[in-house]
Amino acid sequence: MSRQSSPDVVVVGAGFAGLYQLHRLRGLGLSARVFEAGSGIGGTWYWNRYPGARCDVESLEYSYSFSPELEQEWEWTERYPAQPEILRYAEHVAERFDLRRDIELDTRVTSAVWDDDTSRWSVTTSHGETVTARYCVFATGCLSRPKDLEIPGLDAFAGPVYSTARWPHAGVDFTGRRVAVIGTGSSGIQSVPVIAEQAAELTVYQRTANYSLPARNRPLDARTQDERKANYAAYREAARHSPAGLVGDLPTESALDASPEQRRAAFDDAWAQGSLGAMRRTYADIGLDIRANDMAADFIRGRIRDTVTDPATAEALAPSDHPFGTKRPCLDTGYYETFNSPHVHLVDLKKTPIERITERGVVTADGEVEVDDVVLATGFDAMTGALLSIDIRGRDGQALADAWADGPVSYLGLGVAGFPNLFTITGPGSPSVLSNMLVSIEQHVDWISECLARLERDRVATIEPTPQAQKDWVAHVAEVGEATLYPLAKSWYLGANVPGKPRVFMPYIGGVGAYRQICDEVAADDYRGFTLQ
Ligand code: FAD
Ligand code: NAP
Repeated sequence: MSRQSSPDVVVVGAGFAGLYQLHRLRGLGLSARVFEAGSGIGGTWYWNRYPGARCDVESLEYSYSFSPELEQEWEWTERYPAQPEILRYAEHVAERFDLRRDIELDTRVTSAVWDDDTSRWSVTTSHGETVTARYCVFATGCLSRPKDLEIPGLDAFAGPVYSTARWPHAGVDFTGRRVAVIGTGSSGIQSVPVIAEQAAELTVYQRTANYSLPARNRPLDARTQDERKANYAAYREAARHSPAGLVGDLPTESALDASPEQRRAAFDDAWAQGSLGAMRRTYADIGLDIRANDMAADFIRGRIRDTVTDPATAEALAPSDHPFGTKRPCLDTGYYETFNSPHVHLVDLKKTPIERITERGVVTADGEVEVDDVVLATGFDAMTGALLSIDIRGRDGQALADAWADGPVSYLGLGVAGFPNLFTITGPGSPSVLSNMLVSIEQHVDWISECLARLERDRVATIEPTPQAQKDWVAHVAEVGEATLYPLAKSWYLGANVPGKPRVFMPYIGGVGAYRQICDEVAADDYRGFTLQ
């Protein structure tokens, strides 16, 4: 098939963001080429095929809202569907909206260079092809670039090393094998119980104990689904204007004003619901006041101690070094219970850090544990990693890597000063990873699409944030972040998981609804804070 060498738009990435962006561009009558490094579409749900991978936002909320027909025809089978089902959904969307013909798989974008004379981006791919485009939309994902592991000796390991974020498509049979899982974030916590079902011995290497709540996943019954479908428009609208892109009542009461019995009942209720949002929504100050947060954290630690029979293991699993919610909490199915099995062992890396990996296994101060397989559930170079692994150059050849040397700066998480006609979807400085991502993705794509429509209609050649607007926005993002408990954790939100990465609280915590309003006002005020030429 012949492809345009100078489409109107290049979109990088074919996850949920890239797919919807392509659909909207078609609606605007703009030509587009979408480049995707993977061999399939779906982004996160293409790559992360580890055992137990599933979403922790309910399917009826973690799905597109842009097409009422799509909403009605798609049937989810579970409250929190597993990776294969979410990937099938992405594939269904691509087929239904005939998106595949503009998507090039196995094609990594290696550089994007702005040319001031032609007002176009030159985008080069891993196949050596260079195309030029008026606009470049980076839908490269916040959690798409696995972080490099800084543990020495990994190359020496004689057996297979699996990464949860690059899981073999054929699956892995751990039956009878001795397995090491390194990392206890969401990926580790989801995969450990499933790997434990097969493995002969499973050793879990934990650097930071995380807060995890029981998912209470279940099949979706027809009544729940029908009820939602009958009222979908209202639910979606509520989600769009909520703090985190999730529907639910907002608390006004302080945990400090409640009696111990009331708090216990509220936390018990949230625990029974099986939802991250429910625990956060128990009281208004859970994320703001350390005393309120401690009450929720104590409750969770108590449940861990109730569940794990060995007291030393329970103590190690109970998070103590960061407030609840300041690292992304997890939803699990049987995680803590798994440690009651005699063949599952926990190594607390706070006490005995990993020194190295050898040909045979993992060495800590306690000696070597021999294993057959190593599973890395060690996370991502989040929010900036995928963007900075592309050589992006704006006006006067300025590299994005230089502009972001002290941490990412952007206006609204949508554009960067000095980089005209460049848009990022769920970029740093937007609510993105603090929200139901589907809501945030749709909001960004809609905003970008309306913006492009305006530029096209009025024959505007370039749009770019002013340095002042960007500076003010970056200051605002930092200010609202600092007013919360988030900076108290060494989290990937702050870049703290990647050695040498600047410590900047990257997402915007002002809330999805408030942020949407700001973006809408900026657009209504003829793109206040942007220069249009
Ligand atoms: P991605 O899905 O990451 O897609 C980006 C795509 O860009 C990738 O396919 C990548 O290969 C491609 N790409 C990157 N760089 C290049 C390049 N240079 N050239 C070409 N292609 C490139 N969010 C939630 O809200 N709820 C959840 O329950 C949830 N669960 C998650 C579970 C896991 C295991 C992970 C890792 C993340 C989860 N997230 C969840 C976040 C998730 O990333 C988003 O919900 C959403 O899928 C992101 O879509 P995206 O299109 O923005 O990015
Ligand atoms: P993560 O949350 O960053 O967890 C990585 C884990 O690896 C952490 O326990 C980390 O410890 C540990 N680690 C990293 N480097 C290490 C090292 N050198 N030595 C020892 N341990 C090391 O990554 P993730 O679990 O892949 O999740 C990332 C995000 O993706 C989540 O927060 C969530 O947003 C999303 N996600 C969601 C789901 C879901 O349930 N829907 C599932 C998976 C992922 P430290 O904490 O000490 O850094």
